[in-house]
Amino acid sequence: MNEAVVAAGVSKRYGETVALDGVDLSVADGEVFGLIGPNGAGKTTLVRALTGTTPVDGEITVRGAAPTAVDADRIGLLPQSFSPPARLTARELIDYYGGLYETARSTEEVLAAVGLTDAADSWYETLSGGQQRRVCVGIALVNDPDLLFLDEPTTGIDPAGRQSLWSLLEELADGGTTIVLTSHSMTEVQRLADRVGLLQDGRLVAVGTPTELIEAHGGDSRLVIDTDQPEAAVNALREADFAATASHTTVVVTGVSPVEIGDAAAALSTAGIDYGSLTWAEPSLEDVYLQLTGEQFAGGERLDTGGVPAGTTTEPNAVTPTAEPQEGAE
Ligand code: ADP
Repeated sequence: MNEAVVAAGVSKRYGETVALDGVDLSVADGEVFGLIGPNGAGKTTLVRALTGTTPVDGEITVRGAAPTAVDADRIGLLPQSFSPPARLTARELIDYYGGLYETARSTEEVLAAVGLTDAADSWYETLSGGQQRRVCVGIALVNDPDLLFLDEPTTGIDPAGRQSLWSLLEELADGGTTIVLTSHSMTEVQRLADRVGLLQDGRLVAVGTPTELIEAHGGDSRLVIDTDQPEAAVNALREADFAATASHTTVVVTGVSPVEIGDAAAALSTAGIDYGSLTWAEPSLEDVYLQLTGEQFAGGERLDTGGVPAGTTTEPNAVTPTAEPQEGAE
């Protein structure tokens, strides 16, 4: 498979700050690669390095050329902070940026793709934050690039806008566009990315498909039980051979398969323990993040809506788990 982007030993310092520290990375043609990591990990710097917008040490090739020498018609870039002129309409902006390229998609097509047909004649400054970001995505798409760099494409976009943007990015990926994106949304990378790279302190500490990363670093599936009798619950569960630990009013049982949930519930009931809910969850990318960075994923929304990993919350004795991640609260 051809490599769209290759970085070897890429490092970048800002004074004393090491922003990138020997990053090796390759992104294959047609792949969607998601970069995640804590604030300050180096994600934006890496995107800037790969697009030739900041000089770095090390080797980078994009479609076989230096990032600054790549045909601009083939690359799309959405920087993290990008403010087009405020008193131009969405349509004028797409039109203007399209005019900078030899060939560009039609303005109406781009407006439709980013869901801005109805708002096309509003000034940029009067659009909502989410609409503004969509204009910026439209600008990144206007030259119909086959390699797209998106630095936090959906930050600030409302859930409906986010869903439509994800669909658009999926369509582009299905059509063969290579996409490198940074994200503060686990839902986003889990949905879009073929492979995920986790940056920490300027180093790429893990790379793989979401499944590979979860298998390697996500830990066990678990059952989370909400109860006012955590100590008694732990004892009852341990007697029934479950690995249970308590924290405040939450009991976590690790290594529980879905078919064992009934047994856990029965152990609690037999011991006369009241519990509010049972939530079963498979490990997710969020657990990988926690495991590798030692931090809760704090940059954006979580996969689930509560304080426990993704899963299905069930009322007492109604245990019908599913492993499907829920969409996050946004
Ligand atoms: P991320 O995108 O993961 O939040 P960045 O790439 O923005 O991380 O930043 C990586 C590190 O480099 C941080 O410590 C940041 O403060 C520093 N940094 C980034 N850009 C600059 C700059 N222009 N000048 C000085 N330091 C910078």
